[in-house]
Amino acid sequence: METTNTAYVSVNVMQALVEEKVDKCMAEANMCTCPRCRIDVMALTLSRLPSKYVVLHSNDTLPMLTVYANRYSAAVTSQLMAACQRIKENPRHEREHADHEDIAFIRG
Ligand SMILES: [Zn+2]
Repeated sequence: METTNTAYVSVNVMQALVEEKVDKCMAEANMCTCPRCRIDVMALTLSRLPSKYVVLHSNDTLPMLTVYANRYSAAVTSQLMAACQRIKENPRHEREHADHEDIAFIRG
């Protein structure tokens, strides 16, 4: 009997899709792609998308995600493009004391 397939993982489908698409969208936006800008784009995008957690066998994560990718791809891409434009216009990679601004920004 195969006993290694019993592990389960919970995956936020939206986060997985954003991680999959973020680099391409940032490149197309012709914006700064430093780690700070990248994580800002991801945080802003995910804050505007509903969380979609699914429980998967750890060994079939990728096939299952394809199903959700087809369902949510357009919404994820739309929010990613909007987030890229916002970060491009207001990059925060050079600010040193922006903690309180970060909170307001994510909520905005
Ligand atoms: Zn940057």
